[in-house]
Amino acid sequence: MPAEAQRRAYLEALDIDVWALRAAESTAGGGDADDVPLQEAQIEDWSGLRDTVSACTLCALHRTRTQTVFGVGSVSADWMIIGEAPGAEEDRRGEPFVGRAGKLLDEMLRAVGLTRDAVYIANTLKCRPPNNRDPAVDEAASCRAYLDRQISLVSPKLILAVGRIASQLLLATDAPLGRLRGKKHYLPGGQIPVVVTYHPAYLLRSPIQKRKAWQDLCLARQIVCELSA
Ligand code: URA
Repeated sequence: MPAEAQRRAYLEALDIDVWALRAAESTAGGGDADDVPLQEAQIEDWSGLRDTVSACTLCALHRTRTQTVFGVGSVSADWMIIGEAPGAEEDRRGEPFVGRAGKLLDEMLRAVGLTRDAVYIANTLKCRPPNNRDPAVDEAASCRAYLDRQISLVSPKLILAVGRIASQLLLATDAPLGRLRGKKHYLPGGQIPVVVTYHPAYLLRSPIQKRKAWQDLCLARQIVCELSA
């Protein structure tokens, strides 16, 4: 089955609304009535993708955002780090993982010899959900094509999914994070390995879990090393 068809099948099996490159017709997410369909050509390259994201009104989050939070780092990185959604600080500064959780993420990266500039960091949502609530299904669906395009443009050797929300969305599963971490997964229908770990915001609350996060980082590093050998 082609990768896109497989992804749709996974999402449909989970009762997740499937969003294609044509704009969602439903207004359930509060997309503006005059939204024009997205054209693939608009998001073919980085600048088209960035412009499309910054003008996006596909879901209601555009009404409350300060700005979109696109992604940051090396566009040819081996590691791609994918989190959930911007928080207050990220919404203010327009960059992912710059708050307290971001500082811990930086330390986690440093522990495996990486810097923010050496990886690519993005979120499943490009706009901040009010009060840092979990992303709604239609919001995640609306943003998914942007993330997929970022992944295909970076073409990383490995994706590190941080936290339950990003991990479940990427792997199209509802398995709990504890069952997902500690293993090598692949993007559904794809070749890119995915390692799941705890969200740094959770680690700030539960520092005892840092040991497991370190094991996850070691697994990720080992996979990248094997692929680079
Ligand atoms: N949490 C995330 O998942 N992403 C951010 O960018 C910040 C906090």
